[in-house]
Amino acid sequence: MLSMPDLNTQLIHHPYHPPEGFGAITVPVHKASTVIFPSVQALRARDWTHESGYSYGLAGTPTSFILEERIATLEGGRYCALAPSGLAALTLVDMAFLSAGDEVLIPDNAYGPKKAFAEHELKNWGIGCIFYDPMNPADLAARLTPRTRLVWLEAAGSITLEYPDLPALVSAVKGYAPQHPRGIITALDNTWGAGIAFCAFDMGVDVSVQALTKYPSGGADVLMGSVVTRDRTLHHQVLKCHGRLGLGVAANDIELVLRGLPSTGLRYAAQDATTRALALWLHTLPYFDRVLHPALPDSPGHLFWRRDCKGAACLVSLAFKPQYSQDQVDRFCDGLQLFKIGHSWAGPMSLCATYQAASIRSQPSPYRGVLVRLSIGLEAVEDLKADLLQGLQKM
Ligand SMILES: *Cc1c(COP(=O)(O)O)cnc(C)c1O
Repeated sequence: MLSMPDLNTQLIHHPYHPPEGFGAITVPVHKASTVIFPSVQALRARDWTHESGYSYGLAGTPTSFILEERIATLEGGRYCALAPSGLAALTLVDMAFLSAGDEVLIPDNAYGPKKAFAEHELKNWGIGCIFYDPMNPADLAARLTPRTRLVWLEAAGSITLEYPDLPALVSAVKGYAPQHPRGIITALDNTWGAGIAFCAFDMGVDVSVQALTKYPSGGADVLMGSVVTRDRTLHHQVLKCHGRLGLGVAANDIELVLRGLPSTGLRYAAQDATTRALALWLHTLPYFDRVLHPALPDSPGHLFWRRDCKGAACLVSLAFKPQYSQDQVDRFCDGLQLFKIGHSWAGPMSLCATYQAASIRSQPSPYRGVLVRLSIGLEAVEDLKADLLQGLQKM
């Protein structure tokens, strides 16, 4: 057996074997609710938590099992559960591990809708939710209590793209956990790294969640999420909750992600190169207090990114100088032609969205002006530069 160290090679070769005499390499799209058992005895004996058996459409098909295997491979993990969106995968982890009376710690720069779930549903269910400063491991350490059950991590942070010292955050948790009654689980929103920039499990993380909506799909045409672990006990806890919630994923959607996967590594690298070229150029313009991208030396956490990452995602944020009003920045966004206004990222088309720093953080923000997050697509860098320049001139 050849060892395949290269991730791009691994993303192309999967363990699917086509039917005898049919030499196609594509994975078939199996659709099912009912799965027929040969006997009552077989139905009774079926263990639905077993990774390779079938019992009902919600519990997996040959198509979903292949994607789960592919995503686990991409992330350097062992087990995977799929969810109908990235956000559903995040909330699945909360629901699988948290009970009334527990506390969950969330970085202050985490994905917004995830914070909202904690502040509404989790609080209503009697679960304490505490935000910590991800750039300060001592702040995280100080907030751990015997009630802490789950610590979320995100690298880089949403919108402001601070890159944290992940190993230090994980060791703050693991250092506290031995005196802890039930142990503390660390879970990373790994959508930005996508399993490509770094291996979450090598950083000591227990659970890695991704919005497959972003890089693995790459098409801006499907919503999906994944929960990957290396630990069978944690996986079964996720799987049991997943089964009780009934989080089905449609076979045609899985087909789209399987189609995007072989080019994930190449798209990540291409979009990374364009984004970095634009970030370096934007950094020389006079409009911004800060251009936020972990590869820029004055972006928060640059040294941790340089130490831990093999690449960066296709996001760059612009912290406008406070003298530019929201109206002016809106004119910039409205004036762009190639960049469309909208949410999400890692698709073929470049996008922009504006944010008010003060309204997305519980801690005071160092950015006093309007924030614009650019998501860089697959267009040519010179075309994107020309578009940004003419948009900035419209302010
Ligand atoms: C987009 C995104 C999600 C949610 O994914 P959806 O599939 O849109 O629900 C979660 N985390 C991060 C960091 C994201 O960018």
